[in-house]
Amino acid sequence: MIRFFNTLSGKVEPFNPIVKGEVKLYTCGPTVYDFAHIGNLRAYIFEDLLKRFLVFRGFKVTHVMNITDVDDKTIKGANAEKVKLQEFTKKYTDAFFEDIQKLYISKADYYPRATDHIPDMVKIIKGLLEKGYAYKKDGSVYFNISKFPNYGRLSKIDLKELRPGKRMESDEYEKESANDFALWKDKKEGEPFWETEVGPGRPGWHIECSAMSSKYLGQTFDIHCGGVDNIFPHHENEIAQSEAFFGKKFVNYWLHCRHLIVDGEKMSKSKGNFYTLRDLLARNVDPSALRFLLLSTHYRKMLNFTFEALEGASSSLKRINDFLYELKNRPFEEGENKDISRLVEDTNKKFIAGLGDDLNISVALRALFEMIRKANILISQGKVYRKDGEKLMSSILSFDNVLAVLPGEEEETLSSKLMKKIEDREKARTDKNYELADQIRKELLKQGIVLEDTKDGVRWKVVKSKE
Ligand SMILES: [Zn+2]
Repeated sequence: MIRFFNTLSGKVEPFNPIVKGEVKLYTCGPTVYDFAHIGNLRAYIFEDLLKRFLVFRGFKVTHVMNITDVDDKTIKGANAEKVKLQEFTKKYTDAFFEDIQKLYISKADYYPRATDHIPDMVKIIKGLLEKGYAYKKDGSVYFNISKFPNYGRLSKIDLKELRPGKRMESDEYEKESANDFALWKDKKEGEPFWETEVGPGRPGWHIECSAMSSKYLGQTFDIHCGGVDNIFPHHENEIAQSEAFFGKKFVNYWLHCRHLIVDGEKMSKSKGNFYTLRDLLARNVDPSALRFLLLSTHYRKMLNFTFEALEGASSSLKRINDFLYELKNRPFEEGENKDISRLVEDTNKKFIAGLGDDLNISVALRALFEMIRKANILISQGKVYRKDGEKLMSSILSFDNVLAVLPGEEEETLSSKLMKKIEDREKARTDKNYELADQIRKELLKQGIVLEDTKDGVRWKVVKSKE
């Protein structure tokens, strides 16, 4: 049985999808106004662990992650750099895809972009106006929270804090200002706008997710994830919009991951403890170790990122890799030891039970390392044979379908054609033909090859997501 903590009920509940064997999953994607920081990446890795575990347990998962490419932040960023919104968001959208590839985050089935779905949003906003849940004011459209009695159920907001009738213009705000929120924002000087049936303007952030989730997953779906900071107002507003418009329950299970702090403190650019993946790669951090660190703390616990913890993650990973090396290279004698079969079976059960219990990763990892410890003792006593070695190896590799922290087999060799491409790019760079160099870099990235320019020259890495 699989159980998850559902933010909506505030309880751990058995997981029962709407259609047996299938899971429809929506995870709030990046707002592409900056590089993802490790707090964002923690959320994406938690969602990836969830998805990989469901796939491991035989579910067919349909995963949608939106790209917010129009909202307050993206518009502000584009204006500050004096570039078109599209040009501005493309840079960070590309960077997002590079980052998730480096961290072995498996790809979603759909990455809908907000700017491609304006008509879908307008349809809902129009419907909400017609049904009396929304009203127009000065060219903008607001959701009237007093018309939706369940408002506040997800975030457990104190009803006394609701301030219907007062209006909130910006996309993000505190619980203390639980006001009517903007579905559609009137056309403004210096902002992109669309001519639509609800007037000229642009969407608020929250309506984007209501429109895109229902389009790809249906009006009611199984799991919606995000960080705890999404609970209010973003997810609360998504529920209000979707349930008011469709007249149905929006989502059955809400899973939220907690914050990440750095060295015990809130991450902030001004404190100098703010890290993106790029910052860490520049310090030669191994992406697998970072992934291991970010997934090894339970998603509902605060994660304290430190470089010491990162080293710990590296050495844990090394233990797994050393064990695999031993299994691959030691000349085991023919034969079989029943204790190993039992150990493998027992570990498999614990791994599945651990993750099935609201993704209790500590239990799953403990079982894995305990298996390695016990098997190492048996190996040193000469009690492990060829068939046992194979069983141990395939068990580790099957766990890695969920964890995705081990290097792929193809890591070490690249076809000569691809090597030639890397050389061509080097030459283009030496010739200062940066456009060509960048083009080749992107071509390689499409094939799962990430290039890193270091002071000792270019390094490459195969980072295909292990599906
Ligand atoms: Zn969202």
